[in-house]
Amino acid sequence: MPGEPQDDCLFCKIVEGHVPATIVRETETTVAFRDINPQAPTHVLVIPRAHYPNAAALAAAEPALAADLLLATQEIADEDKLESYRIVFNTGAGAGQTVFHVHAHILGGRGMQWPPG
Ligand code: AMP
Ligand code: ZN
Repeated sequence: MPGEPQDDCLFCKIVEGHVPATIVRETETTVAFRDINPQAPTHVLVIPRAHYPNAAALAAAEPALAADLLLATQEIADEDKLESYRIVFNTGAGAGQTVFHVHAHILGGRGMQWPPG
């Protein structure tokens, strides 16, 4: 079933509390935690509790949950007092996606280059 936990998914395990993470914010529908390999002073991942492989699959199946995810990014940026920040959804292995449970990277606290690498 779409949205159901997947046995082999690292981020489902974090949602279930089976893998530790530095959680910064939780709602009924989302969990946010610090990236284990931070690429900026603030590097937080926001995920839905439900398992979807990428942002488009989430938005197609549960648009309100996709909105929850985006609203959570703003709240985390506010908590870390970020005036500017970058939200990244890597989609597909070729774009650098390594965990196939949709996650928004929130990156901030330093200058950002464009285009990204
Ligand atoms: P992506 O490459 O876009 O799929 O992002 C996956 C992110 O998850 C990477 O930035 C990893 O550093 C991060 N990551 C992997 N394992 C963990 C973990 N156990 N706790 C927190 N972040 C993790
Ligand atoms: Zn998952």
